[in-house]
Amino acid sequence: MKLYAKDLQNYLNKEVIFAGWVHSKRILGKIAFIILRDKTGFLQATFKKDILKEKFHKVKHIQNESVVKVMGTIQEKVGGGYEILVKDFSIINESEPLPIEIWNPDIKTQFIKRIQYRPLDLRRPETLTIFKIRNSVIQYFREYLLNKGFIESQTPKIVLMGAESGADVFKVDYFRKTAYLAQSPQLYKQMLMASGIDQYFEFGWYWRAEKSHTSRHLTEFYGLDVEMAWINDHYDILDFVGDMLKYVLKRISKSNKESLDLLGLHIDIPKSIPRISLKEAYKILGQLGKKLKYGSDLDSESERLLGKYFMEEYNEPIVFITNYPWSERPFYHMRLEEDPFWTKSFDIFYKGLEISTGAQREHRFEVLLKQAKEKNVPLEPLKYYLETFKYGMPPHGGFGLGIDRFVKQLLDLKDIREAVLWFRDPEHLSP
Ligand code: ATP
Ligand code: MG
Repeated sequence: MKLYAKDLQNYLNKEVIFAGWVHSKRILGKIAFIILRDKTGFLQATFKKDILKEKFHKVKHIQNESVVKVMGTIQEKVGGGYEILVKDFSIINESEPLPIEIWNPDIKTQFIKRIQYRPLDLRRPETLTIFKIRNSVIQYFREYLLNKGFIESQTPKIVLMGAESGADVFKVDYFRKTAYLAQSPQLYKQMLMASGIDQYFEFGWYWRAEKSHTSRHLTEFYGLDVEMAWINDHYDILDFVGDMLKYVLKRISKSNKESLDLLGLHIDIPKSIPRISLKEAYKILGQLGKKLKYGSDLDSESERLLGKYFMEEYNEPIVFITNYPWSERPFYHMRLEEDPFWTKSFDIFYKGLEISTGAQREHRFEVLLKQAKEKNVPLEPLKYYLETFKYGMPPHGGFGLGIDRFVKQLLDLKDIREAVLWFRDPEHLSP
């Protein structure tokens, strides 16, 4: 295993081998200093001509960002940090001058250029930190769900069904048959509710062939899908998600403090997540000067306005909006008994952007079939899905939550593309 800079204190006065990137170089006649770097910190390597003899001249030619291995004894440096007095060294991989500037804070490289050299961009702590936190986000969601007894598994991503509407899907040539990349695991996770896996979650890829050019849409994104059976209504799900979101945000705020400090961020933890119906949201928006047609979905301006309103008035970063109109929801959402114009559904907003959609699902076969017909959904690809509802399907519901969106909002990133390693949008298939 590599010896990392963060562990150097354990090797004081010991002889070690240390490898890293050349961060900077200073040569003063018969002595040279190279600052070596790895992802955890720095080590000053001191090269002396009287020790290294004829090999010393090689130091001059080492380019910044080359990979170098040094052997020698670790000493404490005056003024803090560690130093290695080099007895021998080798240049493992020579670097050409970098195509983008990564260390000079005065030179801001455009994101689109940085992404072309993502591994270099990820040598910068600011970029790396985003992915450390993203990693933690996934870990904490998973941790919460597993602790609650949920089972994690995976559903097919090359599908015939799962293209709920047939629109917005990527076609796959599957041995001369047409298949699709899954838009979401929706139908499969619902089928599991009729099994012993009645509290289910998965992390996975979603593909949407939408030509969106926004700061919140990708054509390939990563999400968390949760489904649970034996619920009373969609408010049960919201109780669960609310606790989960609080847990994840608290955990990040505590366990990732160093990373958050580096980005200069403070995480607002929800106290009591506001929960309003879409009808109530129309009213608040009206007071804010934004008129929406009765029965319409929220547009992105409305999402922002509501986010701002609840932050300013209640200091709450997350908002639940419930009971969307049937006309705006997919066929499997359950409608309200008292007024079937509306559904038992919800969206979750984090700092004024949708991060999740969920609902109680219709579990009564006849009603579900009627709803599918009403929405003109082709029934043939849904055959096996629908079939499941004939043999004892408990009431159930769940949600899908976009991980990239969540990370974007959590870290106040300008664009969702910053939250993924290599993004896919209508224009970018490479790198
Ligand atoms: P939007 O209205 O913002 O386009 P949606 O309602 O179409 O999103 P859903 O089908 O509800 O999206 O997907 C569940 C979640 O997945 C969303 O709440 C969001 O967090 C995320 N998501 C949806 N579409 C995208 C996308 N194109 N890129 C990144 N994340 C997405
Ligand atoms: Mg949605």
